[in-house]
Amino acid sequence: MIDLRSDTVTRPTTAMKEAMMAAPVGDDVWGDDPTVNAFQATLAELAGAEAALLFPSGTQSNLVGLMAHCERGDEYIVGQSAHTYRYEGGGAAVLGSIQPQPIENAADGTLPLEKISAAIKADDFHFARSKLLTLENTIAGKVLSADYIIAATNLARERGLATHLDGARLFNAAVATNTSLKQLCEPFDSVSLCFSKGLGAPIGSALVGSQALIDKARRLRKMVGGGMRQAGIIAAACQHALDHHVADLSHDHRRAARLAEGLAKLPGVEITSQATNMVFARFPDAHIQPLSAWLKEHGVLIEMLYATRFVVHRDINDADIDKVIAVMKAYFSQH
Ligand SMILES: *Cc1c(COP(=O)(O)O)cnc(C)c1O
Repeated sequence: MIDLRSDTVTRPTTAMKEAMMAAPVGDDVWGDDPTVNAFQATLAELAGAEAALLFPSGTQSNLVGLMAHCERGDEYIVGQSAHTYRYEGGGAAVLGSIQPQPIENAADGTLPLEKISAAIKADDFHFARSKLLTLENTIAGKVLSADYIIAATNLARERGLATHLDGARLFNAAVATNTSLKQLCEPFDSVSLCFSKGLGAPIGSALVGSQALIDKARRLRKMVGGGMRQAGIIAAACQHALDHHVADLSHDHRRAARLAEGLAKLPGVEITSQATNMVFARFPDAHIQPLSAWLKEHGVLIEMLYATRFVVHRDINDADIDKVIAVMKAYFSQH
């Protein structure tokens, strides 16, 4: 199957599995795992942060990030279509007693500054306490501009809010714009990074921030069940991805652009966006069911649940892109 549902479907390479098998390990809840400690130190340095903390998932890394900033009854300002609001089971509210204040994302993924400003509440006992602004980069594959990030985080800071970035695909943004991870993390108080997406690790995310924030996060991580023991096996995979897979993301971006270009030529297909490793398309409603079945029958999996999305990743090669275009072309020439 050519699986374009998500970049989470990537599998560890043989070299990555060898690195995992060879990793020296210890009990990380006791702080004893040398591979985890080395990975966290390397990542913190790379992100220009004081400290980093390994997590089993990006959902947990985001949750703990939000809980490290917000107490019960505080609120975070977040995009309506952001992962931290929409796709994390309402965890911030359920587990953190943190009220989300969602605002509509603009088409480019940004939260308009005037909407952020209007959403920040006065210090009044009627209101939840506005504590945090949360952004996402990339969002639906789109890279937030550096100017926007500076303006939004400055606005938050001026109004006394902390800032968190869901950087599940921040490495895609770094590669696409030829910007260092450090530069992309610098405007934020905390950043969550994923290694199990396009970077190809089987498990693993991390939170970066100040030492004080990470100390608090370590306690919260234990509380939500994320304290792991011989986690060096996971850290070794993440470190291997950092060392060997980051630059490869540019191939995913090139292939996604080629896929979008090929699909755009087909009658009945409207490409609504292509950015970094993602292509979003729209078809007449009547095609959704039969097209989905056709694709599956011809060995192609795409996600059509929330939007029609094709995600390119390191387990997809040029021939796969050609095949997807050919299968789509065959469908639209017969229907
Ligand atoms: C995948 C993802 C996460 C974290 O997801 P997990 O599956 O919990 O690792 C967070 N934010 C975004 C934008 C994501 O795509």
